[in-house]
Amino acid sequence: MSALTELYQAVRNCHKCEISKSRTNAVPGEGAENAEIMFIGEAPGWHEDQQGRPFVGSAGQFLDQLLKSIDLKREQVYITNVIKTRPPDNRDPLPQEILNCRPWLDKQLEIIKPKMIVTLGRYSMALFMPGRTISQIHGTAVKKDGVLYFAMYHPAAALHQGGLRGIIQSDMLKIPGLLAGLKKETELNKAQMSQKEETQQLKLL
Ligand code: URA
Repeated sequence: MSALTELYQAVRNCHKCEISKSRTNAVPGEGAENAEIMFIGEAPGWHEDQQGRPFVGSAGQFLDQLLKSIDLKREQVYITNVIKTRPPDNRDPLPQEILNCRPWLDKQLEIIKPKMIVTLGRYSMALFMPGRTISQIHGTAVKKDGVLYFAMYHPAAALHQGGLRGIIQSDMLKIPGLLAGLKKETELNKAQMSQKEETQQLKLL
């Protein structure tokens, strides 16, 4: 059994939070185990709870369009949420629920090791870029411990505030350039490393 499949089983059996009693399905996440990008939303909604899959409702349809705009399919990326169970009436996740669910997200990060993490909305942003506001930092990237973090508005925000749609679309279009920059950096580092090794070998001769 793959590490991710094992994790999904454990998430489905998790009852740390009261809200686990009212869920139809836990929604651990889905996508490629070797994905370079991980998208992290807030919490499953009604449709996600019904299907056990992340971002399959109207916000998910918009996310699919956004992915298509940069030539990516869901299967090429990894999609998950800060919490893996739908809060009743789609209320905001509670601090304790976020804490309880954090080890699952950490395990996903450990397994997938994404090069880039795209936070969708303020709950996900707060985990990785605390103390910032989304209106300040959406569309900007910061590198920490070798991972690039990129903050975006939640796709559902565009459904409530039409004005944000264009902003979300143009933020998404920045991703390919950022990924290309990361690849170039890795190649440069590799080249520098092998040059260093060569110099050391020459010194030894
Ligand atoms: N909103 C989220 O944050 N996550 C989902 O999976 C669906 C809607």
